[in-house]
Amino acid sequence: MKTPPALRERLASIIAPRRQEMIADLARFVAIPTGNNHAPGLDTFRAILVARLEALGAKPEFIPGDARPDWLTESADASAPKRFDPPPTVVCRRPADGQPRILLAGHIDTVFDPRGPFQTLTLAPDGKTATGPGVADMKGGILIALVALEALEKVCIPVSWSFLLNSDEETGSYASDRALRAEASKHEIGLALEPALPDGGLVIERKGSGQFFIEAFGKSAHAGRDFDKGVSAVYALARSITRCEEMSDLPRGITVNIGPLRGGIATNIVPDYAAAWGNVRFPDAKDAAELAQGLNELNTAHADAEDESSNHRAEPPEASSRTSQPRRPSIRVRQSFARPAKPLTPQSQQLADTIRAVSESLGVALPFGSSGGVCDGNNLQDAGLTTLDTLGVKGGGLHTHQEWINLDSLVERATLLACVLAELFD
Ligand SMILES: [Zn+2]
Repeated sequence: MKTPPALRERLASIIAPRRQEMIADLARFVAIPTGNNHAPGLDTFRAILVARLEALGAKPEFIPGDARPDWLTESADASAPKRFDPPPTVVCRRPADGQPRILLAGHIDTVFDPRGPFQTLTLAPDGKTATGPGVADMKGGILIALVALEALEKVCIPVSWSFLLNSDEETGSYASDRALRAEASKHEIGLALEPALPDGGLVIERKGSGQFFIEAFGKSAHAGRDFDKGVSAVYALARSITRCEEMSDLPRGITVNIGPLRGGIATNIVPDYAAAWGNVRFPDAKDAAELAQGLNELNTAHADAEDESSNHRAEPPEASSRTSQPRRPSIRVRQSFARPAKPLTPQSQQLADTIRAVSESLGVALPFGSSGGVCDGNNLQDAGLTTLDTLGVKGGGLHTHQEWINLDSLVERATLLACVLAELFD
């Protein structure tokens, strides 16, 4: 450890008295609805954060969002938004000559419906925890990073930092992937603000994740009069789903999940269309390639020939016109493996060891762990930036209406992050 203990004590003494103020800020942040790509809330929250970073001398750059595949947007989940207007990413830069360039990464979106019942911060009677949408994932994490940077400013440690804030992490970072990758190449160390593991630990390796969409095309017929003239898309889809199940390999850490599903209109009609969305998780790039290949093999030849850009409801040639031909359903699979795996590297191990040493110097043990969950840390490290991504607060119940934060962790983790940044300062 090269940071003098007196500096760490000074940072801790600046941050500790801000506890109440942080809880008040957190209540304000949490009350801004930023789920379901709710643009007014995202714009409001982004503007608050940019103003606070500008006060530290940072210059913001807004990067327009990119579109994502249509088939990801449309889902059998009726509550999901039907349209997706890609939100922008903002990067606030505060460089310093000769210093390692550090990228802080946070997402301002949550998973919560802006019209739902879970909208505000509620403190537990004992004052130790609070619940609220995004309180841990990751409005609390963004808050501790602001406070850490403000503390460093007070002690005149000019760390070279950029703070990237994207608005679509919870939906796969399709809009912000280009910005994430561009910033990865401009920085040397990545720190993202996802919540800590339940034991307060640091995630040092993550699986990757891919999305896919299977469509089955058949031919409709009256289920009583003309059953033999129909081709059931639902049965065809079911056979594909069974093959997906066989691709899972738990001992190797490979999983294939299916759902939601769609198919059929009424019980007395042979269904001509069925579809399923699915998700794969994998520990490394080789397994990802194997899964992609397996999914590809579900495609039937006549579906392959179909125009990818056509409406998914368009029936393939076989089922639609040549009714006297042998009747076969067709299958079309589309896939997007946008979250590469994030294996432990010698560089990320070294960064994790540094963070652990700083934490222990503050009297807090820091266990290491792994996760099947994915985040922007996957994309940043895949783009070449050594990144650790659970520097945020302690809490749990993520993505549920019980999402909670350990309120003491606001001060604890802001202090940890400030001291980590001080330690990385040359
Ligand atoms: Zn998150």
